[in-house]
Amino acid sequence: MCGIVGYIGVKPALPVLLEGLRRLEYRGYDSAGVALLGEPLWLRRAVGRVSDLVQAAREAPEATVGIAHTRWATHGGVTEANAHPHLDAASRIAVVHNGIIENMTALRAQLTSEGVAFRSETDTEVLPHLVRRHYEGDPVDAVQRALAHIRGTYGIVVLFADHPELLVVARNGSPLVVGVGEGETVVASDPQAVVQHTRRVVYLQDRELAVVTRAGVEVRGLDGAPVDLNVELIDGDYDVANREGFPHFMLKEIHEQPRSVRRCLRGRVQSEDGMAKLGGFQMTPRDLAAIQRIVCIGCGTSYHAGMAGAMAIEALARIPARAEIASEFRHRHPIVMRDALFLAISQSGETADTLGAIQEVQLKGGEVLGVVNVVGSTIARTCGRGVYLHSGPEVAVASTKAFTSQVTALLLLTLMLARTRDLSLPRGQEVAEALASAPEKVAHYLANPGPVDAAVELIRDARYVLFLGRGFSFPVALEGALKLKEVAYVPCEAYPAGEMKHGPIAMLEQGTPVVCVVPQDAQRDKAISNMREVQARGAHIIAVHTEGDDEVASLATVSLPVPPIADFASPLVTVLPLQLLAYQAGIALGRDVDKPRNLAKSVTVE
Ligand code: GLU
Repeated sequence: MCGIVGYIGVKPALPVLLEGLRRLEYRGYDSAGVALLGEPLWLRRAVGRVSDLVQAAREAPEATVGIAHTRWATHGGVTEANAHPHLDAASRIAVVHNGIIENMTALRAQLTSEGVAFRSETDTEVLPHLVRRHYEGDPVDAVQRALAHIRGTYGIVVLFADHPELLVVARNGSPLVVGVGEGETVVASDPQAVVQHTRRVVYLQDRELAVVTRAGVEVRGLDGAPVDLNVELIDGDYDVANREGFPHFMLKEIHEQPRSVRRCLRGRVQSEDGMAKLGGFQMTPRDLAAIQRIVCIGCGTSYHAGMAGAMAIEALARIPARAEIASEFRHRHPIVMRDALFLAISQSGETADTLGAIQEVQLKGGEVLGVVNVVGSTIARTCGRGVYLHSGPEVAVASTKAFTSQVTALLLLTLMLARTRDLSLPRGQEVAEALASAPEKVAHYLANPGPVDAAVELIRDARYVLFLGRGFSFPVALEGALKLKEVAYVPCEAYPAGEMKHGPIAMLEQGTPVVCVVPQDAQRDKAISNMREVQARGAHIIAVHTEGDDEVASLATVSLPVPPIADFASPLVTVLPLQLLAYQAGIALGRDVDKPRNLAKSVTVE
């Protein structure tokens, strides 16, 4: 979501800024803009893609300093006037901003009464006007004093026409990283836009302000207190992913899952001991044995993975476990028990709602560990301990490979926890074996995905699609419905199969497509009864079931078999046909599957 790039150096700034924005495109945005230093400041903005901004910025002046932004609208429509950068009245101060200014109504009213004419509907525009109001020649002091009036979240970069030698940067709740190169400094909201220039970086913390010059960076607290500079070398895999011959990133990432699940398992399954090892947890068996409850916190796909993980933890480790939606959890004054372990699940590691939940748990003295894909991300750093998914960069906005890796990581944790309780060595070995065999099963399904096209024909023009599953298949049904909404915009919902008769069955009529996730597990027979209820209403069943299960197949209009696997690991294979179904439906309907409308990859606002 929303990207920031700032540059001050020796090279022409525009190509650096535009290339940086391109590397942040995968995060999702709706408009973009750039400002270059000059007399006057040179500003171009465009609705749409970075490529539209490239067109709009063709006749740019030479400049070695500039700021740029991709916007994901929160306040004000998607228009050129609302795109960033925003300027003060004299057009001598330009600001790019990620986040939300919560007290913007009061600030706009006050500034308007002082004679400021707003040129956009955004919350952001209060910033350049406020900075101007406090500007008495010292740019850092002006930003500092302006921010004292701001409530909300921000990552900002401010460019002053009067101060060609610096950019002023500040953060509260929205990530910013400063890359320190040779004679040049790059600021961005994501290391992805920095690493091609330098791997020496300073991560800004909340309530910090940085003065960025060609020589480097100086950081202080927003209150002016000095802060020790912590320059780090980032490793991590930040290569811009390529599609490896696939027409879309989403399809490439679906097919990458045998490898990504294997990477997540690598070195972590101890088959002989029937155990798993997650070094980043830094927990002894004694620490693990002391845990009395587990809460998985996430949003969207990560929440669904958390649900599947919590079920496995309860089933195998017999520890009460549940999943919580981060945005709900954090705002309802949650109870944080000292004997609980909280797991914050996020692909990007920047999800604002999940970060807020973590801070709430930490404030209440609780223990939170991260389950994160992006190395060095804010959540990984805030938790300090946890497990990295090692999925590699996920570029498609709709998450696929991160889901299977999140489930895999949670199953590894399940095995660790279960073995500190009453899971025996032989049972532990079985679980380890099931996990170790997962990548092959994923590969086996993807090599022969079955008649997904026929399922697409059933759903592409449907007014409503229902997804059903029981037990471990319920989070999979939720995830399947989420994918179909995200990339194909087909109206659908997911229910626990047993709950259908309490309401959604009223939606069924002749030909309504119903996707039933029914692997061969302890709940299969009950799920078959639900399929018969669906069939009796003339609805069409698309069944995801275990290979060779002829009874389930015989009830389906379209049958999508997956390889047999232990019930707790079944989400790793049953989700695959649903990912392909959403992808192919999106293509059939002419959607932009890698960048669906309104969505962002890394949801950095609340
Ligand atoms: N709230 C700001 C706006 O709507 C910034 C959004 C963003 O983070 O991209 O313009």
